[in-house]
Amino acid sequence: MRVAFAHMGLIHIPLQALFKGLGFEVVLGPVSTRNTLQTGAKHSPEMVCLPFKVTLGNMIESLHKGADTLLFIGAGDWSCRFGYYGRLQCSILKELRYDFRAIFISKNDLRLILTEVLSANGGNPFRALKNSAKSLLTAWIKSKQIETIETLARKIRPVEKTDGQTDSVSRELINRVSKTSSVRNLLKLTRSINQTFKTIDYHKERKPLRILIVGESYCVIEPLVNFHIIEFLGHAGVFAEPFLTSHRWLFRHALRIDDNKLLKNKRALKDASKIWAYPTGGEDQVSIGFALNARRLGFDGVIHLMPFGCMPETAALTVFESIARSGDIPVLNISLDEHSGHTGVCTRIEAFIDLLESQRAARSKVSATTTTGEKRECNVT
Ligand code: SF4
Repeated sequence: MRVAFAHMGLIHIPLQALFKGLGFEVVLGPVSTRNTLQTGAKHSPEMVCLPFKVTLGNMIESLHKGADTLLFIGAGDWSCRFGYYGRLQCSILKELRYDFRAIFISKNDLRLILTEVLSANGGNPFRALKNSAKSLLTAWIKSKQIETIETLARKIRPVEKTDGQTDSVSRELINRVSKTSSVRNLLKLTRSINQTFKTIDYHKERKPLRILIVGESYCVIEPLVNFHIIEFLGHAGVFAEPFLTSHRWLFRHALRIDDNKLLKNKRALKDASKIWAYPTGGEDQVSIGFALNARRLGFDGVIHLMPFGCMPETAALTVFESIARSGDIPVLNISLDEHSGHTGVCTRIEAFIDLLESQRAARSKVSATTTTGEKRECNVT
């Protein structure tokens, strides 16, 4: 059985380790490119959401690479379109005459997953159990290491002295995480990640602008569709923190582990519930919760990313607009689809950075006058 699944950020690195450890042969297509998106969009319904198109392209590329089994996450157990991605993509691929077996991974049907794992381990339950525990541990370590690398890179990139050094250090470390398979060697690698980042020289005195990225999970995590927004902001000297990463997404959905140090999901959901009673499918409610807390968490602005036509995020848009109107924190909304262009998106982000910079300059002018006692009132934003 040669299995494949869709890409989203760097999620394929821990997932590949997980499925390999469980006894499956993994055949992954290349990471998503504009070509992947165009291939997927060509065979998708026009108004379906953007992640559907890219992930359909992933599946086609994996089949061309020799995969014979496709893993689809979600099978009707979701309140937005994500719930029927698998079934619909499967019918489209069958209509295109691809020959493959589909496995639908659903939290409502854990028996199916157990049966597949057992059969991949020759029907031996002890072997299946041992391999499951080991592969879960390996996947967790890899995912956590990627999280650490991305977190450190986000902090240092805006203030690095040599442009591009953080990117090359991160790429090299991610490559090592991807290639290392034994738990022992992975643990050794964990120790060297922090050390390697310490070799990057940076401007200690700089205080970069801080932007919180919220919105639909795929748009926040997948660099192809968000035009590498984190790196782009970092190179513009801005610290960008996404409320969600591939690590957080994976382990929150799979094992209900929430290790987001910025703000716990529970707290975000509770704060949002006063104006948004429940999640309607995507990350709408939790995104609202993060945006409501952004100023308190020290951010200067919020960027809200959503796929064009996404039901939950389109509905939540009015709330983001009212947060911006309230004057609490500026919010930039970016709607993305296959027609979005790098220049258009980046120009809007640059204009947003200018706005945040001028607001910060005005704020510090007021606080300077406040500390000298000339003016006590501060109501700039
Ligand atoms: S959250 Fe939005 S973009 Fe994502 S699957 Fe649901 S409807 Fe589509």
